[in-house]
Amino acid sequence: MQEFIYYAPTEVVFGKDAEKKTAEEVKKWGGNRVLLVYGGGSVKRSGLLDRIEAELERAGIAFKEWGGVKPNPRLSFAQAGVEAAVSFGADFILAVGGGSSIDTAKGIAHGTANPGTALWDIWTQKVPLTKSLPVGVVLTIAAAGSEMSDSAVLTNEAIGRKQGLSTDFNRVKFAIMNPELTYTLPKYQVTCGIVDIMMHTLDRYFTHTKGNQMTDEIAEALLRTVIENGRKAWKDQTDYEAMSELMWCSSLSHNGITGLGAEKDFAPHKIGHELSAKYDVAHGASLSAVWESWALYVYMEEPGRFAQYGRKVWGVQAEDDVAAAREGIRKTVEYFRELGMPVCLGKLEAGVLTEEELVDMAERATGKDTFTVAKFRELHQRDVYEILKGANH
Ligand code: NAP
Ligand code: FE
Repeated sequence: MQEFIYYAPTEVVFGKDAEKKTAEEVKKWGGNRVLLVYGGGSVKRSGLLDRIEAELERAGIAFKEWGGVKPNPRLSFAQAGVEAAVSFGADFILAVGGGSSIDTAKGIAHGTANPGTALWDIWTQKVPLTKSLPVGVVLTIAAAGSEMSDSAVLTNEAIGRKQGLSTDFNRVKFAIMNPELTYTLPKYQVTCGIVDIMMHTLDRYFTHTKGNQMTDEIAEALLRTVIENGRKAWKDQTDYEAMSELMWCSSLSHNGITGLGAEKDFAPHKIGHELSAKYDVAHGASLSAVWESWALYVYMEEPGRFAQYGRKVWGVQAEDDVAAAREGIRKTVEYFRELGMPVCLGKLEAGVLTEEELVDMAERATGKDTFTVAKFRELHQRDVYEILKGANH
């Protein structure tokens, strides 16, 4: 087995009515003055925010609302949230929502603990992050896994860059997960979430890692569980069992346990981020749109790995590795289609890209070819261009 460090310190409170424990959890983790971060209004419409505020009031915890986070959350909104949190004297940041609200909350926590430092300087690691505020989460969507991950992603709209930051300061103190809170999701968000959950494990699975049997087994079981329950959720998103499995899988898929010791690849994510930064594409859709082209471009690097995926996750029978690999890829894409997810660029908001746009995307993803974007197979600017071109129909 390879060497690894495993650290996933988030307390998970899972089940029906779990949100009733929010105030208790905030207190437990030292919160007395809370900045409440949420999105474009779904938590207001559902009544969840009112219920949480009532709980906080009952517990004597002061709070200030910071609502309006957009999907593909913006740096400027997080930076303004820092100013709001500092002037309120916040000692705790509570996100109520999905990955966008959680990532904004993480950014606000870092900025508030380091007043006077521009958030982008922290994000680009120009200024090392040595302290942050505690963050808690009430999760409303199974997707990003930010509720247990060490990362956060913000878009600097001034320069058109969507950038992630990985640090243990991004580990939230607690995550409240009541699957019933996901019943109000638009169907498209349910399926974008399913793709993102799968991709956090796939982007770890496709590495040259050997001798991680337990980790592979966990990854394959997680993928099978998501595929099965994703189908059920697609039919009925008020199926408590299905939404429960998806919610727990979203956290496990990105808390590190499906990739112990493995070098992360994350090429589809890096390419997807560029599509989201420029065209404001939903994160899950950006991934399903490029995955097939990426997989077909890289699988011959190690067909045995893709064959294992096909056999263990999709029950592919073929004895020949190349055939099994191709069949696993085909079944994955067929599944995305079944869920109504886009499987090529032409189905995204921007439509089929021009030659110029393809070159621009490839350049953005590879930083003008000064570094490579992946581990499974090194991808330079020309490779990313070919992958995008393969998906451009
Ligand atoms: P999201 O962007 O937080 O939310 C997507 C949409 O779903 C929003 O319009 C939101 O509406 C709506 N929504 C959420 N919960 C709802 C509910 N229960 N009922 C009705 N509508 C609901 O979704 P996400 O997929 O969780 O997050 C995506 C972001 O996370 C992307 O920026 C992605 O890059 C990032 N990401 C982060 C990580 C990480 O580890 N940090 C990992 C992967 C992806 P409202 O705004 O009105 O609430
Ligand atoms: Fe993701």
